Amino acid sequence: MPLPAPFAPAWIPGYLQTGNRFTLIRLTTSSGLQGWSAAPAMGREREGLGDLLGPYLLGERADDLPAIAQRIREMSYLGWRNGWIEAACWDLLGKASGVPVYALLGAAAGSVALYASTGELRSAAARAEEVRARIEEGFAAVKLRVHGETLEQDLAHLQEVRARVGDDVQLSVDANQGWRVAVIADAPCWDLERASRFCGAAAELDFAWVEEPLAFDAYDDLAALRRRSQVPLAGGELNNQGLPELTTMLERGCYDIYQPDAVMTGGIAQTFEVVRRVEAADLRYTPHTWTNGIGFAINLHLFAASRSRATELLEWPHAPPGWIPAVRDALLERPWTQQNGRLELPVEPGLGFTIDRRALARHGRRFYTATPTRVAVRTVLDKGLGTARELGAIRERRLAERSVELDRELQERTPAQLGLRAAMRSTSAGAAPSGSAAH
Ligand SMILES: [Mg+2]
Repeated sequence: MPLPAPFAPAWIPGYLQTGNRFTLIRLTTSSGLQGWSAAPAMGREREGLGDLLGPYLLGERADDLPAIAQRIREMSYLGWRNGWIEAACWDLLGKASGVPVYALLGAAAGSVALYASTGELRSAAARAEEVRARIEEGFAAVKLRVHGETLEQDLAHLQEVRARVGDDVQLSVDANQGWRVAVIADAPCWDLERASRFCGAAAELDFAWVEEPLAFDAYDDLAALRRRSQVPLAGGELNNQGLPELTTMLERGCYDIYQPDAVMTGGIAQTFEVVRRVEAADLRYTPHTWTNGIGFAINLHLFAASRSRATELLEWPHAPPGWIPAVRDALLERPWTQQNGRLELPVEPGLGFTIDRRALARHGRRFYTATPTRVAVRTVLDKGLGTARELGAIRERRLAERSVELDRELQERTPAQLGLRAAMRSTSAGAAPSGSAAH
């Protein structure tokens, strides 16, 4: 989707983004229901994904979340992590049962409170003006960005913005060291010392949190920083090894506030289990949402179903003129909208959006269509008719047996409950760790 003006993300110095690109997947069931999901993309890097997805997913039941999770896990052994696809099955489940995904996760309708998330670097004066505008619109808080060459520049920015907006405004700040990209211009690289001094200043200036002050996988340094920091540390949006990785981070005490993005962290069931463990450890959760309208929806439903919904604010990316919600959501018939810093949860079944077919036809480029016939023809060409038939028969038998077993399981539990139970058991650490010990 083209942006109305180039957007210069603070996290990629020198880069000008002209479009919001993502890979969109549509899963169609034999009864004709359609479920959608999307993952951020640079270009056509997932072009060949259909070759992988078709044979793994076609024929599986969309209401068999444990099996879907296992297929996605099997595909990831080849290096691609595609947990985002699982969310399309939740969209299907919601549509099949006529309820929103957050209701499948046990939550009631209503609204969530938002914070405004900035995206570009600005002078302190311009930033302060922006903060005031958001607060006037009704947002409860604003997240700043720093990506200065030196610590002194970053500290001066914090101090000046704080001085200009006053002590009553809730501010947080994202250093984006987790996803440090130096592909165009060089990007600052913080070490423990710099992060520590930055956090000291942020604490004095009463910032609500410091986000991604170190590399996303610098677990030990993050834990060390957290032990000495007086300001809460936030992060986790990029930890795409899912539940096992985030469980490890909880055990090590990396963050006070976890921000898993289900598009990156392995889909809805796994991420909901992450949330459960974060909350059980008396830590905080509010997801990263900065991808596209579909990714926003996925994280919105998870946040709506969390206990944190009552106390935390959800990220609302807003960086005019280039990055505005209407453009983020340009593939949806109705963009997500906020009023006075709150967003009403959708009441439509599934993920709660409708794809705008005209926008899709105009801007979408189809990479692949995987159907049972196409997969069968390819297998025959690849392995010969006899072997293809044999393999097909073995798989059909396995699917039929599983279907009987699943129907039995579904007499006791809903598909969503089965999926969540499977996620709960998918790491050896079944119980919530006591990650708050470090504080
Ligand atoms: Mg961030």
